[in-house]
Amino acid sequence: AEDVINPSDLTAVGQVTPASAADVEQALAAAQPWDAPAAERAAALNKAADLYEENFGELFAILAREAGKSIPDAVAELREAVDFMRYYAANIPPAAPAGVFTCISPWNFPLAIFSGQISAGLACGNAVLAKPAEQTPLIAHRAISLMHEAGVPRSALQLLPGQGSKIGAALTGDARVDGVAFTGSTATAMRIRSTMAETLRPGAPLIAETGGLNAMIVDSTALPEQAVQSIIESAFQSAGQRCSALRCLYLQDDVADGVLTMLKGAMDVLNLGDPWHLNVDSGPVIDAGARAGILAHIDQARAEGRVLKEMSTPQAGTFVGPTLISVTGIGDLEQEIFGPVLHVARFKSQDLDKIINDINATGYGLTFGLHTRIDDRVQHVCDRIHAGNIYVNRNQIGAIVGSQPFGGEGLSGTGPKAGGPNYLARFCAPDRQTSAETWGTTTADLPGETGVPGRPITTSLPGPTGESNRLTTSARPPLLCMGPGATAAASQAKEVIGMGGTAIEAHGMFDLHRLEFIQGIAGVLWWGDEDTGREIERTLAKRQGPILPLIPGHPDRARVLAERHVCVDTTAAGGNAALLGGES
Ligand code: NAD
Repeated sequence: AEDVINPSDLTAVGQVTPASAADVEQALAAAQPWDAPAAERAAALNKAADLYEENFGELFAILAREAGKSIPDAVAELREAVDFMRYYAANIPPAAPAGVFTCISPWNFPLAIFSGQISAGLACGNAVLAKPAEQTPLIAHRAISLMHEAGVPRSALQLLPGQGSKIGAALTGDARVDGVAFTGSTATAMRIRSTMAETLRPGAPLIAETGGLNAMIVDSTALPEQAVQSIIESAFQSAGQRCSALRCLYLQDDVADGVLTMLKGAMDVLNLGDPWHLNVDSGPVIDAGARAGILAHIDQARAEGRVLKEMSTPQAGTFVGPTLISVTGIGDLEQEIFGPVLHVARFKSQDLDKIINDINATGYGLTFGLHTRIDDRVQHVCDRIHAGNIYVNRNQIGAIVGSQPFGGEGLSGTGPKAGGPNYLARFCAPDRQTSAETWGTTTADLPGETGVPGRPITTSLPGPTGESNRLTTSARPPLLCMGPGATAAASQAKEVIGMGGTAIEAHGMFDLHRLEFIQGIAGVLWWGDEDTGREIERTLAKRQGPILPLIPGHPDRARVLAERHVCVDTTAAGGNAALLGGES
């Protein structure tokens, strides 16, 4: 057994016995999709949510001691976990399960994301193999035992703690697995993509929610007090260990000095320490390795004279003081720094479009924040920024299930958004086509034309008064329709276009190797033989950039359409009226 360490004081919280290769084998052999009626599955998930709530004290204590969560963060985390379970229980689609689903989660939401992935898989009737992060097996174990107590069969839900490179790799590289839900870093998602391409059935779904380089723009009309509050929460809550956290702040030159002074003042009153204490705002980072990486980044910035402010930290534990670092723009950030480090850039009002382009050029697209009192500017920026979740005049963290479906685009994730209306479909069996023969022999046509994208559709989602929550679906880049054969390709394109998407017909002798480099596609439809399917998977897995799917059956909505969410604090008022006319 291995010790599980409390990051606040480096004492042991408990012990974990990692799963062995034999345990993985046994779990795969024992896994049985949960064939109870949907109503029964929903009842068990709702019961599990009740049990989570009843056991709040114990769960908070484990979250604080194992994951370094503050009490407000622990409350929010329990709420999110329970929301996921109830939301998925209430929205079970009338479809067969995919089969066996592997769920791999990160340590930063060790209860909420862990429970969210699992309950989605279970709601749809899958057997779930759950692999928590190395750092947080204790909360995972407690969660699984509460789900079992609520009536989830053991054959449908098994816990396999252990290292990603061993247990995670084994659980994503076995032909008995039908799909994978993963949340974690972009690099790990790419690795899993390659492993799956070699072993799983071609077309097996990978739902990957990954990292981001998240920006916020504060213009001269923003209310500084409100912007600073949002910045502090977005950058430093949970010690910056949220995928949604603000990494690069853009301040309009005209107000930058004032906002920075206020921001430094607000940092001065942040209280770092053992998160179990109610007066603590921010706890430690997760472990010594994470701390060393973040400190190396700060050291380099300090050596270059770019540290604007740095806070001291408690002695024991893996703490990192909240830090401000000056940058010229988001392009200076080479990677996601997963901690309480905020990069700050200045911009001139006439350069707004340039910084929007710079932000989009990172290739990530998770969250984005905007503080402005100009309605046209909200529209202008929201129309152009590529980010899955956009927040206006508020912080950019803490998405609420059902109100703010969450997930990124580009390098930040595949979708569908967790806690949203399109998520569960991906956990169901693909609607398979008939075999290749039905579609006739292949022909040698060259890529055909693209359909006209359907109009974006926006729906308002429920939320509190004073907040607008709107989910928009619009066409993704075209799906490559490879048939086989002209008839199949045409019918694939017709389906995609019928759903509001765009398609390229590329059936026949289309050179598979081109798939490794072809730009501007969102995935590949292939209804033919499995060997070619595997070749397509391997080639797609070699690509740099966003993870693209092979779709072996009818496409689901979320593969044809991209989902974007915009949340606006509609009560925001005030701002710096003196600057309202002086934009340029
Ligand atoms: P990580 O990628 O290191 O690990 C995530 C999980 O993957 C862990 O359970 C790990 O054991 C497992 N893993 C590692 N290697 C594996 C392999 N080869 N095969 C299978 N599984 C493997 O990420 P982390 O450090 O735990 O989490 C932080 C990252 O997660 C950040 O990048 C953050 O942005 C991201 N994140 C994203 C979201 C989102 O919704 N987009 C939410 C939370 C965290």
